[in-house]
Amino acid sequence: MLVVGSGGAGMSAAIAASEAGARVLVATKSALGASNTARAQGGIQAAVGDDDSVESHYEDTLAAGHMDARPELVRALTEGGPGAIGWLSEIGVRFSRDGERLRLLPCGGASRKRLLQAGERTGPEMVTALRAAVRAAPVELAERSRLVDLDPTARGWRATLVGKRNGETRSVEAAAVVLAAGGGLRGEADRRGIGSTNHPDATPEVLRLALELGAEAREIESWQQHPTGSVWPEALAGYALPETTRSYGATLHARDGERFVDEMAPRDVVSQAIEDVVAAGRGVAAPTGATGVWLDTAAIDRRHGAGFTAERLAYVHKRYGKAGVDITRERVLVYPVLHYRNGGLAIDRDGATTVPGLFAAGEISGGVHGSNRLMGNSLLDTVVFGRRAGDAAARVAA
Ligand SMILES: Cc1cc2nc3c(=O)[nH]c(=O)nc-3n(C[C@H](O)[C@H](O)[C@H](O)COP(=O)(O)OP(=O)(O)OC[C@H]3O[C@@H](n4cnc5c(N)ncnc54)[C@H](O)[C@@H]3O)c2cc1C
Repeated sequence: MLVVGSGGAGMSAAIAASEAGARVLVATKSALGASNTARAQGGIQAAVGDDDSVESHYEDTLAAGHMDARPELVRALTEGGPGAIGWLSEIGVRFSRDGERLRLLPCGGASRKRLLQAGERTGPEMVTALRAAVRAAPVELAERSRLVDLDPTARGWRATLVGKRNGETRSVEAAAVVLAAGGGLRGEADRRGIGSTNHPDATPEVLRLALELGAEAREIESWQQHPTGSVWPEALAGYALPETTRSYGATLHARDGERFVDEMAPRDVVSQAIEDVVAAGRGVAAPTGATGVWLDTAAIDRRHGAGFTAERLAYVHKRYGKAGVDITRERVLVYPVLHYRNGGLAIDRDGATTVPGLFAAGEISGGVHGSNRLMGNSLLDTVVFGRRAGDAAARVAA
């Protein structure tokens, strides 16, 4: 069977399919693991806290998605949370702990502390562990190979791959295909000339191929903005300060200093509030002419004590430091940037699309988050549905 893409969903699917006994080929546009998954800093949600429950995670997810998600998919996502964390730990992801206990942080739209992190590098840590597991499995790799065509055959699928370096075309036969090529939002942002957090490979051609094959979609035009894209300093324009910045106490302010939104509300609410404040002429103009609002990052150390930001947000602290801004003393300017495709290909609990033999997992799929995603639920989605899709596709391929 063929897996397209090697972010969290593709690599989870490949490992599960291989464990289920399938012969697996992973075709991916760049090097193995190059993906949006590798950019994720914030963390992953799962109901593992003593005061938490799968039911509570389920309700928060449905509510944040404006009740548009498919309940059975949200059920599978949230029930799969604790198991996904256990599995990631087994393959080598080192989640942050306070003493013996897993560290759990609050995050926008969640009624409990539910966000787990591997330092500030949850995505890169996941990719490192998944890549090692893929390489240790009997999985064939076609790196720097772009899927450009997919045709049904009597026995499954014929995929056409094009080599990135040499432009050579290769044809591959597969009984089942898992599409894990992400949401493709970078392509959309470039087309509209707006900022995006996405990897340059995040283009929507695979999504388009599936739609042309007749796969049904849900909430496909529903996009999420990350509320705190950096506006200034210019060197960091478009970089998204992780939501944990607000979890730790950074506050949002209009030009007059007034706070105008609950910083821990779901992302769509916070993003809309920022846009409204700027549209009302209460934003702050950067020397580039771009406008944003203040994110008072210095509030974090005021709340937790000196040194907290440098330790818990070391990457952000260093990155801004290099650009000449000490976020423990100065405020930064932020405005929403395009971040995530909420919907995508309609799937069932096993990642099966409406086209027989064609599976989808991760950001390319729809119905798991409805029309707004809770932070940390996407990394979980990639592992839970990646593994389910890989396992189910392996059964078709058997
Ligand atoms: C900056 C940033 C921070 C984020 N932070 C968080 C966070 O803290 N928590 C959270 O839950 N979510 C976060 N997200 C969202 C989350 O990381 C992604 O939604 C998720 O990782 C998507 O995983 P995926 O496997 O579905 O797709 P991706 O990780 O995007 O992988 C897609 C793969 O498909 C490949 N591909 C694309 N087209 C083709 C093609 N034609 N042929 C072959 N291969 C192809 C790509 O090269 C890539 O390997 C963040 C996203 C970004 C951009």
